[in-house]
Amino acid sequence: MGHSSINYQAHFEASIAQLKTENRYRIFANLERDAERFPKALWRPDDKALSPREVTIWCSNDYLGMGGHSKVRAAAQEAIERHGVGAGGTRNISGTHHPIVQLEEELADLHHKESALVFTSGWISNLAALSTIANILPNCLILSDALNHNSMIEGIRRSGCDKQLWRHNDMQHLEELLAAAGSDRAKLIVFESLYSMDGDIAPIAEIVALAKKYNALTYVDEVHAVGMYGPRGGGVCEREGLMDSIDIIEGTLAKGFGCMGGYIAANHAIVDAVRSYAPSFIFTTALSPGIVAGARAAVQHLKSSQEERKRHQHMAAMTKHALIAAGLPVMHNLSHIVPLMVGNAELCKAASDLLLSRHDIYVQPINYPTVDVGTERLRITPTPAHKEEHVAELVEALVDVWKTLGLEFVESKVLSFRSLNPVPDQSEADAQCGYVDMKKAAE
Ligand code: PLP
Repeated sequence: MGHSSINYQAHFEASIAQLKTENRYRIFANLERDAERFPKALWRPDDKALSPREVTIWCSNDYLGMGGHSKVRAAAQEAIERHGVGAGGTRNISGTHHPIVQLEEELADLHHKESALVFTSGWISNLAALSTIANILPNCLILSDALNHNSMIEGIRRSGCDKQLWRHNDMQHLEELLAAAGSDRAKLIVFESLYSMDGDIAPIAEIVALAKKYNALTYVDEVHAVGMYGPRGGGVCEREGLMDSIDIIEGTLAKGFGCMGGYIAANHAIVDAVRSYAPSFIFTTALSPGIVAGARAAVQHLKSSQEERKRHQHMAAMTKHALIAAGLPVMHNLSHIVPLMVGNAELCKAASDLLLSRHDIYVQPINYPTVDVGTERLRITPTPAHKEEHVAELVEALVDVWKTLGLEFVESKVLSFRSLNPVPDQSEADAQCGYVDMKKAAE
């Protein structure tokens, strides 16, 4: 046999070069998070000639800062001391550890469901649950919102079932597809409660009504809402009194709850089927007792404490208010996500670089394929730990970056807080909205 002429290395290098030409090559900042001082962190530039610098993080998905909460850290430490760091294996081979059972009980209670099942991530929970549930149902048709997350798309693909996309949040389109499928066919409606890139919220009551009318099952991803919405942090479905009308709720322990892992909550038969059939649950080591105990402490805390949710919404409204008043192009939504539109991959990356190098502010650029080409953006996520002075610094920095790069300003508006976010304690928010001199910032 002759020698192969394949140049393996060249293929990898060409694939990377391709990303660079498209301005989609991803660079991750090397950040040393500081549990006590979040959202401050130490940035270690790749260029070793540069010294590490303190920066303010404005794009963390530890939305409520629970990763550094004293109760969460204490619970994780205690569990590691008692049980050790690892889980000891897959649950299938080595048994299930007690803290994970306790967490599952806590999550079932959070969502008013009979059972819950914890996975190694939210991504895996969508893969495992969607592929298994749809596959068990005979000739199942999956109806998926066009903007569903990659993890849901992968789960749907793996189920091997027929799939139809409905136009994002378009109830007329969903109804057309449901009607065309007929009442005898198994149907699974799959959507997110809160879409993370635009920050918009699904018309959940209407989806539930259609599911009832056409006898379909409902599966909602509440990854960007659990911990943050609803009186006990059960998500947007809880806030809208709709948890009991949804068949399967999926969530993460990595964002609002500040830790790691994912889960589903549903009735016992559904959860038991996923537990029994999903390879991505069965054949992987369970989460560490430390992480699980930390996550449980976060879930428990957020069931009763309103403080983090209130301050979170307040800071989101305040940030939007300040950016809009400075004439920066914020995409409107009624959630905690603040999408600041750039509309060009190269400029988006340049804006992010300038924020970091000149202003010590870290906001990762969001480019294709995470969002469509032409809708590149800076995705800003205020947390309860951000202070009013951080917002003022952010506005000044962004105005400078916009001017330096020649990016377009929009008409500056001073809007009421009420029109920006459903802040739980409105009077408090309104009282504080004059904190920054917008005109000065825009000069
Ligand atoms: N679902 C949605 C809508 C997401 O945006 C993400 C991640 O960002 C996930 C699931 C995956 O969750 P995790 O980060 O816990 O894997």
